[in-house]
Amino acid sequence: MPEETTPAEASRRPHRNQERPCIGVLAIQGDFAAHAQALEDAGADAVEVRNSAQLAGLDGLVLPGGESTTFLKFLERDGLLQSLQRFVAEKPAFGTCAGCILLATNVSRPAQQSLAAMDISVERNAYGRQIDSAIQTGPTKLPGGPLEMVYIRAPRIAGVGQGVEVLAERDGFPVLVRQGRLLAATFHPELSSDRRVHQLFVDMVREQRDRPRP
Ligand code: GLN
Repeated sequence: MPEETTPAEASRRPHRNQERPCIGVLAIQGDFAAHAQALEDAGADAVEVRNSAQLAGLDGLVLPGGESTTFLKFLERDGLLQSLQRFVAEKPAFGTCAGCILLATNVSRPAQQSLAAMDISVERNAYGRQIDSAIQTGPTKLPGGPLEMVYIRAPRIAGVGQGVEVLAERDGFPVLVRQGRLLAATFHPELSSDRRVHQLFVDMVREQRDRPRP
């Protein structure tokens, strides 16, 4: 039997802006479970996304690492690419590594299709093959001390547009960038125990969700 809600009960419910945002994680490949855990730790509800219908009602989306060519093959197959393009054109999105490649307007080495949402130019596998994967700790613009950054066959952000804020660099190249409601990292913050990068994204999602609409 559906339960009746009295006005008094309704008024005790958390106000919308205190509710946990609902963030999707593209769950085709890569370490989506680690992203989901990191989002939960940072105060969001995480939902796995494998088709267009699952994007409905989400407050934001994480595009994990993996192999961007494999992502593209899957996305092209069932129209998910177009649905994701529409989603990231208006909602918050966070791409890590291959996800960063998917968000970029410009991809090279080799050139390939993308969601073309973020004004960054990305070179794939710029640090060499698997053997060049690395864990580094360095400064960022996030509050708190240095951040551990796990790189796995990472791309390089070779250039950023004017509206893009660089939040961290490696060897003079951006590794964590923000453009309004979009965030991208060439490393894997979900593989470290530090939750500051996911916390930033969850805060961005809340900010966008609770923004007064005209
Ligand atoms: N090398 C991968 C690509 O080009 C990205 C690696 C990763 O996501 N860890 O798509």
